[in-house]
Amino acid sequence: TVVSRFAPSPTGFLHIGGARTALFNWLYAKKTGGKMLLRIEDTDRQRSTQEAIGAILDGLSWLGLAWDDQTIYQFSRAERHAAVARELLAAGRAYHCYATPEELDAMRELAMKEGRPPRYDGRWRDRDPSEAPAGVKPVIRLRARQDGETVVNDLVQGRVVIPNKDLDDLVLLRSDGTPTYMHAVVVDDHDMGITHVIRGVDHLTNAARQTQIYEALGWHVPAMAHIPLIHGPDGAKLSKRHGALGVDAYRAMGYLPEALRNYLVRLGWSHGDQEIFSTEEMIEAFDLSSVGRSAARFDFAKLEATNGHYIRNADDARLMQAIDDVLPHIPQGAEIAASLTPAARAQLLKAMPGLKERAKTVLELIDGAAFITARRPLPMEDKAAAILTGDARAHLAAIHQRLAALPEWSAQAADAAVRAEVDAKGVKLGALAQPLRVALTGRTTSPGIFDVLDVLGRDESLARIADQAI
Ligand code: GLU
Repeated sequence: TVVSRFAPSPTGFLHIGGARTALFNWLYAKKTGGKMLLRIEDTDRQRSTQEAIGAILDGLSWLGLAWDDQTIYQFSRAERHAAVARELLAAGRAYHCYATPEELDAMRELAMKEGRPPRYDGRWRDRDPSEAPAGVKPVIRLRARQDGETVVNDLVQGRVVIPNKDLDDLVLLRSDGTPTYMHAVVVDDHDMGITHVIRGVDHLTNAARQTQIYEALGWHVPAMAHIPLIHGPDGAKLSKRHGALGVDAYRAMGYLPEALRNYLVRLGWSHGDQEIFSTEEMIEAFDLSSVGRSAARFDFAKLEATNGHYIRNADDARLMQAIDDVLPHIPQGAEIAASLTPAARAQLLKAMPGLKERAKTVLELIDGAAFITARRPLPMEDKAAAILTGDARAHLAAIHQRLAALPEWSAQAADAAVRAEVDAKGVKLGALAQPLRVALTGRTTSPGIFDVLDVLGRDESLARIADQAI
């Protein structure tokens, strides 16, 4: 059965590209009835932080990408990495290299002068360790094959052939005994029983080097799928401004996890022209064979449209939950949370059908609901205040009188009362509805005005209207 893995380095937050990689691994595991494992690649002790680990776990959970089994921490496996390197050494497939930093610098400089990528020149490959200079602690290097070629049969990129002469003898174990990324990944993927390595195409050259390590160890090479990178809308590397943010930032911007997931699945993968996928549909339709090779383009407008679709179609209760979820992550969130008394929550739920028609993000939902918890005298937008001129305040007085006389308070009854006034005055509905909206919400846009009256209730509605009427 399939075992895939997501292997982030906890040197920063779970960024959007990482989330997409995790999603593809998760989908492939779900699709095939396999597992997705999580490995935290925390061998870089300087740059790995507990905070980043927390953000990664949090981000994955928020996106609903549950991993199987226990989280593996790469650093805890350092002993095993070193042992495997020593096995290669004993088998003659690796060797001690005593090259000094100065020698390595010289190799790099030479490469630069000759305009080619730096490579280790193999000077300790066949030298006797008895020639080792005193006081230099050796690294362990792979004795890579120098003839022939290394082939990566990639499920996305196809057959990738790299001449071995272009690959030097890479370091497996540093002089301090710590493993390199290249070595640790191979040992871990093998020991974790990984069958499919799905990751960004920026790891494609690593795949060739890792294949050499697998071959030296006589281990089976897992299937590989190197997925295209995510670029900005301009085709350049994704910048912060264009979306290269952590998943936590998207959460704080009011995106629903199900919407973000749906947006991400289409970055590099397609299924006909279908854009909206339920989780089940996504799992059903996903396949590595329909992952494209060209870079995906991140498009905020499309993400927003997708989010709007999910908000419009979400259950009202789900949206309540989404609001609660985002409040701890936004400025003024605590204040808003405190204002949501049980009564206000009931009003919010009642207003949700009208609110969700207009909101593209959860933040817009929250903003649209501000009229519920607003206190009199109501804060007014300038645009809104400008409407309360001419006959507007007199209209409000008339409406107040009609509404106050209603035997029963409902959206329909309010609708009838306002229309009666429209007929009596011979004006357009808007001439009364706009001032009414402004009086009730302090804004020029809101859910349907009769729904607003219904949500606010008789006393609060009449008080707000009276505040602005003459
Ligand atoms: N830790 C690596 C990274 O964050 C990924 C390693 C891999 O997937 O093989 O880029």
